[in-house]
Amino acid sequence: MAEEIRLVDTHAHIDGEDYDADREEMLARAKEAGVVAVVTFGDTMEASARAVKLAAEHETVFAGVGVHPENIFPFAAEDDDRLAAWTKEKNVVAIGEIGLDYYWEKDEDKRKLQRKMLVRQLALARDLDLPVCIHDREAHGDMMAILKTEGRNNRGVIHCFSGSWEMAKELLKLGWYLGVDGPLTYKNAAKLPEIIEKMPADRLLVETDCPYLSPLPYRGQRNEPAYVRITAEKAAEIRGESLETFSAQTTANACAVYNLKIA
Ligand SMILES: [Zn+2]
Repeated sequence: MAEEIRLVDTHAHIDGEDYDADREEMLARAKEAGVVAVVTFGDTMEASARAVKLAAEHETVFAGVGVHPENIFPFAAEDDDRLAAWTKEKNVVAIGEIGLDYYWEKDEDKRKLQRKMLVRQLALARDLDLPVCIHDREAHGDMMAILKTEGRNNRGVIHCFSGSWEMAKELLKLGWYLGVDGPLTYKNAAKLPEIIEKMPADRLLVETDCPYLSPLPYRGQRNEPAYVRITAEKAAEIRGESLETFSAQTTANACAVYNLKIA
């Protein structure tokens, strides 16, 4: 008998209204596809509150709380306190999604605010002894500078990794895990397949970033955790591994970095 496939979708956003009509069915489809856990991340305070609620209600859902760079605002002390309080709730395992996005943000003052609030949320994660989930889009230089200074004692994941192999090597040396998503299946995946092939097995994670970034053949449609299996199949193929081996390893990695307790 073939070994059971056990995957974790390590980066999702299942709190939004995209899933209001079929959230339970969507989670059932994930289970059928072998997805034993979903880590859903808040990208605003409101979304973080919803993520915490979903984690409380579902054994297989875990949550990260944080404010995404595209939605960043100057925190007051009570904002840190709200985030910290949520991390004490059931199945809340990380601070995220936090980071820098210079693709969408061109204004220098707002980019500066992104950096300031990233550093602040990294400090919060250290205080709470929790991993972080990092978003880095077209901000590689500033991100590396922060992770080597203020973030040198943080741990966690660079999700949807989009840098070079050189950058990947630096991050691996600093102890970070890297996440791969649906774009690995695209024809224009560029240098990503080569990076996935070279990645050390114990630092790689698979994720959907749903409802965004659907893998082929669903590109352009709503993504969902079940489709993490498609990205996992592609990554396993690139690495010359069976899906069983690949999923067992990446699920062990997910449990290690996010301290997931899964049945
Ligand atoms: Zn995300």
